[in-house]
Amino acid sequence: MSTDPMIIQARQMLLCRRDALRTQRECAETAVPGGGARALSFGGDVPGARFARQERLEMEEVEAALVRIEEGRFGGCERCGGAIGRQRLLAVPEARCCLTCADRRTQGAGC
Ligand SMILES: [Zn+2]
Repeated sequence: MSTDPMIIQARQMLLCRRDALRTQRECAETAVPGGGARALSFGGDVPGARFARQERLEMEEVEAALVRIEEGRFGGCERCGGAIGRQRLLAVPEARCCLTCADRRTQGAGC
């Protein structure tokens, strides 16, 4: 386990985020469609379904980042192998890529 304060802080944030997502998932699973707090007027949309999908993707990213911390690979860009940068990691601890690569990649997912 790393003793780098930045990694410890990022890990804390990821653990918090994972707990929050778990709570949200439990709420989403028990929520009556149309009756939840997020059931705003998105004309005809099913509030639970889309939200649950985004949340599941985010959960995967958060868990992958925690694995990278455990394995000592946290903070390295998966595309160029460079450092992701502390500012970015503290803003987005689950980021897989550095800002340069994230900017180049316009399709979204994965960075
Ligand atoms: Zn990169």
